Amino acid sequence: QKPVPSDIVISRSCVPKPIDRLAREVGLLSDEVELYGKTKAKVQLNIIKRLQAQPDGKYVVVTGITPTPLGEGKSTTTIGLVQALGAHMKLNVFACVRQPSQGPTFGIKGGAAGGGYSQVIPMEEFNLHLTGDIHAITAANNLVAAAIDARMFHESTQSDKALYNRLVPLSGGQRKFSPIQINRLKKLGIEKTDASTLTEDEITRFARLDIDPSSVTWQRVLDTNDRFLRKITIGQSPTEKGYTREAQFDITVASEIMAVLALTSSMEDMRQRLAKMVVATSRSGQPITTEDLGVSGALTVLMKDAIKPNLMQTLEGNPVFVHAGPFANIAHGNSSILADKIALKLVGPEGFVVTEAGFGADIGMEKFFNIKCRYSGLRPHVVVLVATVRALKMHGGGPILPLSIIKHLCEQRSNGCSNMKKQIENAQHFGVPVVVAVNAFKTDTEAELDLICSIAKAAGAFDAVRCSHWAEGGAGAVALGQAVQRASEAPSNFKFLYDLELPITDKIRIIAQKIYGADDIELLPEAQHKVELYTKQGFNNLPICMAKTHLSLSHEADKKGVPTGYVLPIRDIRASVGSGFLFPLVGTMPTIPGLPTRPCFYDIDLDPETEQVNGLF
Ligand code: ADP
Repeated sequence: QKPVPSDIVISRSCVPKPIDRLAREVGLLSDEVELYGKTKAKVQLNIIKRLQAQPDGKYVVVTGITPTPLGEGKSTTTIGLVQALGAHMKLNVFACVRQPSQGPTFGIKGGAAGGGYSQVIPMEEFNLHLTGDIHAITAANNLVAAAIDARMFHESTQSDKALYNRLVPLSGGQRKFSPIQINRLKKLGIEKTDASTLTEDEITRFARLDIDPSSVTWQRVLDTNDRFLRKITIGQSPTEKGYTREAQFDITVASEIMAVLALTSSMEDMRQRLAKMVVATSRSGQPITTEDLGVSGALTVLMKDAIKPNLMQTLEGNPVFVHAGPFANIAHGNSSILADKIALKLVGPEGFVVTEAGFGADIGMEKFFNIKCRYSGLRPHVVVLVATVRALKMHGGGPILPLSIIKHLCEQRSNGCSNMKKQIENAQHFGVPVVVAVNAFKTDTEAELDLICSIAKAAGAFDAVRCSHWAEGGAGAVALGQAVQRASEAPSNFKFLYDLELPITDKIRIIAQKIYGADDIELLPEAQHKVELYTKQGFNNLPICMAKTHLSLSHEADKKGVPTGYVLPIRDIRASVGSGFLFPLVGTMPTIPGLPTRPCFYDIDLDPETEQVNGLF
């Protein structure tokens, strides 16, 4: 086998086709496309209306077994499969992937554009600013943060009347409410539009949000791995008159606005979701929203371009939407509904859209079905479950090469293949056929690859095939493409795992028992308090987005295979009301990574002559 060059060398060896040409090839009209240079474009949402009568294509979700910290190749397989279906099997295709955070690009992990001969190109563009969506989220998120603290500051230093007079200033001798203020009046049940007729009591209720500073859940964000912002004190300048408060920064992709972007279905829907985000509680226990702060219209303005999916291409010239990239632990870890919807229309009924769900099947896929599919109304035809020999060996307890030993281990409950079997079962809970893609590494033996395929089939997978798209591009995933095509014609009987109307605790227990294999759950006091609070506030019918380690089916990252005989502890529960889910915290989740002693940025530099980016993966 020829050695495979580095990702950036491969990416750069391929000249991408002009993006306007690709846009035409996939059926986009020129006025539906906004070019961002030669290799990226945004697609306008009005295309959904133009193509509404067109039947959707086949919908495929790529997930994986419980991975090693290195990742087992879900992104690489998503791209390799699309290259196989498109460039080799000549079908209409689209890949839909997440935009990576810039934090890890300069920190520890590396890129997310796939790898080897299965990549999105140009990978520098993909991994860096793309078209600025993440920057727009940073701007929008921090506007909310500024609005919260400024509002608390102004309320604490002014009388009700003075506050009201500033909130509704005189203009041409009259005080007039803005449309957003009229929404707030309606919410308060004050049916008045004339600012001069409010009673004293109404003025107080209107002007004072009365935010409890200790209840603020909204954090500032930055797309940089800056660990020193994990806990900060804000307001230390004398101009803030002593109104200091402890706060924190999260990485931008952990912002609720990112989760909203991924789950929204239209500009109007985004406006509503951006208005519903709960940022704190008032001293009387009422949820305070972004609409109460008056900022939701401005947020929509900041996000008006970010909502349009970004068109790029694979190494073999197939179309890719790169859109949204919510954190896979505290959020749902899936790319956008809008990109999937537009892609399904563009490929037509015989075509395929391959979308990727972050982390293993217990996390990304479960959230894909129970959250993303619930909001999109889309029903997938096939699950592709990526497995690797190296991860299965890890689950089996170490590097075991001889076939006889693997066979022996595979027969035992604690072995590596049991993790794959459990993840196949997890996909089957949703009634969708599963194709296992065994992503081959050059160190794997034929016998190991064959054995995994036969175990997967015996465990109920529709099919299991080995693939070599990392080393060979789409040609190495044609067998996978054919298996996916066959599976897409098999009967699918999609169902959700739980009903939304169930109590919060029951929904969490169903996920813990059916997907993770836990005996039960235990709600710690803070989580118990939140169950009561959210039930009282009317948020109990939201789906559940578990914040759990992806490195084990259980809550303990070092428990490999299929852990049994444990109780899943729920430490706390938070609400993402705008994006539309509750997220129980199973452990402590870092929400902004740090930099290692030797970060990736040591290798990155620009060639001033050619303006080429060097050293990126
Ligand atoms: P995931 O999406 O599951 O996190 P990725 O597709 O990003 O995983 O792959 C993780 C890393 O492993 C990437 O650097 C990728 O290039 C590399 N990789 C994936 N498949 C192979 C393979 N078959 N051989 C060697 N390296 C691979």
